[in-house]
Amino acid sequence: MTKFLIAGNWKMNLGPTDAAALAGELSKKWPSGSFSNDVVVSPTAISVPAVVDALKGTDIAVSVQNVHTEDSGAFTGEISTPMVKDAGCKYVIIGHSERREYFGETDELVASKAKKVIADGLRAIVCVGEKLEERKDGSQQKVVKKQLDGVLSAIDSSDSKNFVIAYEPVWAIGTGETASPEQAQEMHNYIRSVVADRWDETASKNVRILYGGSMKPANAEELLSQDDVDGGLIGGASLKADSFSELIEIAESLSK
Ligand code: PEP
Repeated sequence: MTKFLIAGNWKMNLGPTDAAALAGELSKKWPSGSFSNDVVVSPTAISVPAVVDALKGTDIAVSVQNVHTEDSGAFTGEISTPMVKDAGCKYVIIGHSERREYFGETDELVASKAKKVIADGLRAIVCVGEKLEERKDGSQQKVVKKQLDGVLSAIDSSDSKNFVIAYEPVWAIGTGETASPEQAQEMHNYIRSVVADRWDETASKNVRILYGGSMKPANAEELLSQDDVDGGLIGGASLKADSFSELIEIAESLSK
């Protein structure tokens, strides 16, 4: 049985003080043993220690939003997997569309980051998704397959449990627009078939495929009820303890 993964992406919001306050609210609401799925929050890197501290005594894991492929060295402004582990994180978001769009991350770079993250014992949440014009011209599956190809070559099927894919149609991120449950299911099912073709059926079932793009309490139940939707990567609605908690509750009510 697959557990849902509910992951909050706080993006470049909430410095240490505000991030600790939000994590503190979540910590009060969700003490250890209070949910059965997996829950992750991903603060901006400078807020990670404060959030890790505030979440002690809970089962909420912490993620970062990006990582470099080297362990250390002259890479001003970057953070590495040993640092991320030392800080107490368990997950890394890789290849978010904002990183692809504003920081020039290519499929090749995303693949090498995913490889490094998994080799170093962290869980990778790799984001894929088409732009609006690609959805409009019907090339969304081709685009997503290309984004996945390099990653699936870079990591091994035996790592499938540490590999999470987030399908995030770019046109639905932060726009208030959401993929319909049917559109999400169709793409998630396609993604699983790509993983099964490249790896095998069992590994494709181990990989969790999250939906991301304006997921919120009002639409989460329908999206999470789809067969191949194993959770959500949530931006806006993860920035408030109430709405994020509602999403955790909805996932709890829908056993996979
Ligand atoms: C995201 O940041 O990955 C995201 C899906 O954002 P939002 O939920 O705000 O659309």
